[in-house]
Amino acid sequence: MSSSNFKPITTMREPTELASHGLVSVADLPELAKVAARYAIAVTPDVAALIDPDDPQDPIARQYIPSAEELVSQPGERADPIGDDAHSPVSGIVHRYPDRALLKLTPTCAVYCRFCFRREMIGPGAKPLTAKQLDAAFAYIEAHPEIWEVVLTGGDPLVLSPRRLKQVMSRLAAIDHVKVIRVHTRMPIADPARITRELVRALKAKGKATYVAVHVNHPRELTAAAREACARLVDAGIPMLSQSVLLAGVNDDAATLGALMRALVECRIKPYYLHHGDLAPGTAHLRTSIEQGQELMRALRGRVSGLCQPTYVLDIPGGHGKSPIGPNYVCQDETGIKVEDFQGNRHCYPPA
Ligand code: SF4
Repeated sequence: MSSSNFKPITTMREPTELASHGLVSVADLPELAKVAARYAIAVTPDVAALIDPDDPQDPIARQYIPSAEELVSQPGERADPIGDDAHSPVSGIVHRYPDRALLKLTPTCAVYCRFCFRREMIGPGAKPLTAKQLDAAFAYIEAHPEIWEVVLTGGDPLVLSPRRLKQVMSRLAAIDHVKVIRVHTRMPIADPARITRELVRALKAKGKATYVAVHVNHPRELTAAAREACARLVDAGIPMLSQSVLLAGVNDDAATLGALMRALVECRIKPYYLHHGDLAPGTAHLRTSIEQGQELMRALRGRVSGLCQPTYVLDIPGGHGKSPIGPNYVCQDETGIKVEDFQGNRHCYPPA
């Protein structure tokens, strides 16, 4: 793998900036201007430095660099692919499952992923929660004692300052029935230097367990700086999980996926979910089929330790929640139950 070794000073947000650094072609600019008018773009210096501009199939570029393919919507794609709106009782809250609720603190991110499931709702143009709306969101959590876990998401909550995060954590710490706070973020990858000791301290809430789930899709994203950022969290006693999205041309082969999961475990991050790509508009070129995903999960089972196995899940379109969609290793025929091993051989298991 060759690397550009090019690290811009600031985040690139315009197709013209990407062109001037050789990350898109000048001939594509008219189409990319249409993409930019619809979906936010942001490529941080750390992410830009990972892209090989000479490789048209670069798996990092595919995740962050806009493409004219995003202008093509397929039947079935939708603005709210996982059905957040159907479960949003007040602004900023998604309460889909009884024991947990999402608190969407901000609609902005450090980077904008080209396959984002909330791409129609996020970006610098989206409205953040007002102070009044934030109060109403906390009041909702307070009024629902069944909420055991609050998932801070967005956008990316770690774009907020440590001071703002501390305020949020203190408010959650004051709610007795909330026991677990999970933070979903791409920041250790997008801008690892933002994971300062001050920010790490701000994520602690007295009497609660804080977990951080990092979004990462390719082993190259786990740079030395990203690993150090994650280590700052884990060393501070914050357990980490991972979330990855299965993406065509990025991680849809067993070697890449296996290397990613191993790298995560080496960083003391437990692989948690491998998401099937959501039906977000203009993302068909990045989706695989469910059959491909199941085959990859089979290959992973034979290739890497159980510690490295994520759960392959689909957020059922329409807001019906996540379901595991990994391969099935158990079948039944007239002779009884058969269980398949990691090499594909079937073995009988006696009836109960
Ligand atoms: S970081 Fe998450 S919310 Fe932000 S653009 Fe990427 S997938 Fe979407």
